[in-house]
Amino acid sequence: MTNNHTPEHLLAEVFGYAGFRGDQRAVIETVLGGGNALVIMPTGGGKSLCYQIPALAMQGTAVVVSPLIALMRDQVATLRAHGIAAAHLSSQQTADEQRNTEGQLVSGELDILYVAPERLLTEGMLRQLDRSAIALIAIDEAHCVSQWGHDFRPEYLRLDALRRRYPNVPRLALTATADARTRDEIAANLFPDGCERFIASFDRPNIRYRVGLKDRPKQQLLAFLRQEHPDVSGIVYCMSRRGTESVADWLAQNGINATAYHAGLESQTRDERQERFLREEDLVVVATVAFGMGIDKPDVRFVAHLDLPKSIEAYYQETGRAGRDGLPADAWMVFGFQDVTRIRQFIADSDAEPERKAIERERLESLLAYCEAPDCRRRGLLAYFGESHPGECGHCDNCLNPPQRWDATQAARKALSAIYRTGQRFGAAHVVDVLLGRPNERISRLGHDQLSTFGVGDEHDKGTWQSILRQLMAAGHIDVDPDGHGGLRLSPSCRPLLRGEQQLYLRRDQPQRPAGGGRRPTEPEAPPDSAAWHQLRRRRREIADAEGVAPYIICHDRSLMALLNQQPQTLAELNEVPGFGHYKCERYGPELLAALKEIELDPAGDDG
Ligand code: ADP
Ligand code: ZN
Repeated sequence: MTNNHTPEHLLAEVFGYAGFRGDQRAVIETVLGGGNALVIMPTGGGKSLCYQIPALAMQGTAVVVSPLIALMRDQVATLRAHGIAAAHLSSQQTADEQRNTEGQLVSGELDILYVAPERLLTEGMLRQLDRSAIALIAIDEAHCVSQWGHDFRPEYLRLDALRRRYPNVPRLALTATADARTRDEIAANLFPDGCERFIASFDRPNIRYRVGLKDRPKQQLLAFLRQEHPDVSGIVYCMSRRGTESVADWLAQNGINATAYHAGLESQTRDERQERFLREEDLVVVATVAFGMGIDKPDVRFVAHLDLPKSIEAYYQETGRAGRDGLPADAWMVFGFQDVTRIRQFIADSDAEPERKAIERERLESLLAYCEAPDCRRRGLLAYFGESHPGECGHCDNCLNPPQRWDATQAARKALSAIYRTGQRFGAAHVVDVLLGRPNERISRLGHDQLSTFGVGDEHDKGTWQSILRQLMAAGHIDVDPDGHGGLRLSPSCRPLLRGEQQLYLRRDQPQRPAGGGRRPTEPEAPPDSAAWHQLRRRRREIADAEGVAPYIICHDRSLMALLNQQPQTLAELNEVPGFGHYKCERYGPELLAALKEIELDPAGDDG
């Protein structure tokens, strides 16, 4: 390693960054010293540089295992825009393309080669690798090795073959999603020879978390988009395929650039829509969870949930797709009682083993507890992943608008008693009608209008009773009959409450409000909504279109914002802007500097 190949030097020269973040330096040190590293960092934490810098510092080619072609292509385009010799190999390429890349590998022209696992483990590929100099092996999305996770890839279990074949080559495994059990699985499967573990905090400080009541979900979503996120990229998650279509249509009718994505679409349509999402800067994709891994777009400004996700893990992974670039982003969700009943039904109807169903129900309960929590969302989320956070993060809904709490002891006892006296077989709607004393045909047929609890609750309205039932459920005092018909039952933990030995405070539901409250000191600055910004963004898009890449490959929003602030006049000054290494300055510098000059002369833009 010569002097100008030190990690710091490469970081500045090639990537244009001033310093390493978090564990990056320590990971790089380990790999350069010939050791193995297991790297767990949240999305946007900067995992890629952990292997890209050693790849440039070391002799030979770094081989990166990646599970999705879209991910590989994106990484290769990013690296090439930094002037790095990168390529990928997948079975979707023509034989010529593949031979060409293999030739470059063997002759030592490549710094970094991305390969899909099934391709990597073919005998032909391994023979090519035998003839090449391999600097290191990086296994991306390493949680795919976990047989319990939903991204399981059987080929990942066979990657151990690489250790046996190339025992002296250092290896890294990287992922953003790994609880303690998955970490151990990764270590056991990929590093029987040992590894150093680097585990960063899971906190995503730039994401604002918000959970509200579902009322008229489409209108709520539209208002959120119009008030807070006009003309940006985002993802809206819905549970059903039909739901995605109808919400996307509705948004489009209301003037928003939106499209649907789900597993029922032709694969060509799916690819097209994913590609549009990457290239366009204002597309809202309304999707099922099929739209997921492989979406590495840095400037996703919000992730909205119109239906409850399956678990806190799923919620954190889905919302984690927002704000990879570190700029402010929103995780916004609305939910209602019907969601809970529907998911319970779903679990009940599945043909999973009883133990599995019990786990699924527990997961749903944790999620409900999160939704109903009266205190800092961030603390609750991180606690779920075993991490402690002091709370009062200052940019979740509960920190910004602390919910009111009220003494609901009496009301809760009435609700519990209504459930008990009606036989613990009926859903929330029926129980609420009994409490309110609203007669209907079923109530008189069953004689429920004769019960002592009939009409005892007319001091509260229907919404309040629903809120009470939801929160009793989230607190574990009632649960839903596992047969899936939505019947509410008392659980043992409600006894002290029924006997009057315990008081219960509940949060008052409040309408979903705009985040407001201005920027917190810990929150990064958001892109400006100025004419100059939009003009510069448009120029970047034109340069990107001409190159056939996504705009963020030219540079991230953060760098574009720095351009506007720093107003570089020369290439040397441009080199000082974060994200502009040498190659990028030479390649795109002249056009970007010219664009800045134009904007200076005509700040309102030519079509203003
Ligand atoms: P991950 O793979 O962990 O989700 P990436 O490797 O894509 O994250 O990095 C996220 C963003 O942070 C990228 O835009 C990357 O260029 C940027 N980044 C990474 N490391 C640094 C650093 N040391 N200084 C500044 N920006 C960085
Ligand atoms: Zn908070």
